[in-house]
Amino acid sequence: MGTLDEALEEVRELYLDHAVGYHHPRYLAHLNCPITIPAVAAEALATSINTAVETWDQGTSACLIEQKLVDWVTDLIGFGVTPRHSRVTSSSGPAAPRPDGVFTTGGTASNLQGLFTAREDRLARPAPGRRVAGRDTDRGARLSRMRIVTGEHAHLSVIKAARLLGLAPDAVITLPGDGDRMDPATLDRTLSALADAGDEVAAVVAVAGTTDHGAIDPLREVGGICRRHDVWLHVDAAYGGGLLVSPTRRDLLDGIELADSVTVDFHKTFFLPVAASALLLRDGSGFRHSTVSANYLNPADGEDHAVDKSLQTTRRFDALKLWMTLRVMGADGIGRLLDGAIDVAARIGRTIDADPELELVRRPDLSTVLFRPRPAVTAPDRPVTDDEADALVRPVRDALFAEGRSLVASTVVDGRPSLKLTVLDPNLEDDDVDAVLADVRDAASYLAEGMRQATTAGVLT
Ligand SMILES: *Cc1c(COP(=O)(O)O)cnc(C)c1O
Repeated sequence: MGTLDEALEEVRELYLDHAVGYHHPRYLAHLNCPITIPAVAAEALATSINTAVETWDQGTSACLIEQKLVDWVTDLIGFGVTPRHSRVTSSSGPAAPRPDGVFTTGGTASNLQGLFTAREDRLARPAPGRRVAGRDTDRGARLSRMRIVTGEHAHLSVIKAARLLGLAPDAVITLPGDGDRMDPATLDRTLSALADAGDEVAAVVAVAGTTDHGAIDPLREVGGICRRHDVWLHVDAAYGGGLLVSPTRRDLLDGIELADSVTVDFHKTFFLPVAASALLLRDGSGFRHSTVSANYLNPADGEDHAVDKSLQTTRRFDALKLWMTLRVMGADGIGRLLDGAIDVAARIGRTIDADPELELVRRPDLSTVLFRPRPAVTAPDRPVTDDEADALVRPVRDALFAEGRSLVASTVVDGRPSLKLTVLDPNLEDDDVDAVLADVRDAASYLAEGMRQATTAGVLT
């Protein structure tokens, strides 16, 4: 036992001194953003009051604020703007689907619930096996032949979701891409072949901003193909979701409204603290698959309870930080931050392109910059080979991490190692960028020199 001061002092040593600051101008590694001040205020409030967005008698006004934001996001997507409490009922046919959504802990959770909803939606429809003689159509048999179709660069959470949803180990079909993007013709052919084989497709997962390259699948074409094949489209916009409020680049998400479900991560390109994400459904009635009623909590009495839509029960009031940020900065204000980050990434791409000791691997679409070191020092008499450049990538990243001055990430592009910058700081100065690139160049030529000496020594002995 001790005082709060003592605990703080200890935590400084144990945690703060070693924590990586995502707001730091030389942190350019992963998809972590600098955060807005109003959101920090909101976090302090929501945590202090300790609201659980769960049932009406626990969450009251917090439930309404979250719902208002969910309606706002479904509107931005283009799902339609029917207000929640005015369900359209008409005697002349079924009511139009009412979009809805729920906040979650992150893109992983949103993708899981989106794919779960898609799976249940598929199972609620007749099995294709009825058309294929002799096929068993019970639930287990259908699950064992159910597929999820994605592009090459889908997030790992899609595979995790498939495992949790009881699908077969080979259930996720990864289509070879057209560069970094899903190829619509390949998707079309694959869906036809699966239908011919009597396989069911729970969902096609398109990505609006791949985690690794920031590439956006051709959403409108993919959406059209999914409609034609009557297949659920889940758009994972965990990274690219911020484009929904971009004053200049909203068109990059053209066609997202064709999705049946969408994942948006507010703790990435909406510049909010961890954690804040949402799953949005074109037809909010899909949340019935997530509903279990209990007399003590959420009796089926016609009352709307937030818990009816969530895989969680006790749930943080993460919506408040989005609310407060919007009230202070406005949607355009958030969008301009992302636009700024994309501009910075483009500038870095040009700088790298012009640098003889660096090689640009991909021109950035969003805010991801992929590049390789090409030090001249390896051998003055011959240029560095591809293999040598490849061998430098991971050690350069490790050296920077060990040094602690600049932080970049590493990945693999087209089978070859690559360094990666994920830029989410719109205010990044050229000096900071130059310093990070100088650290990369220095580490690369130092390591290359070591490699050359090792090679020479090997030749001599
Ligand atoms: C980050 C990311 C995820 C996972 O989101 P978390 O919030 O980390 O759980 C899913 N999909 C894509 C495309 C992402 O970039």
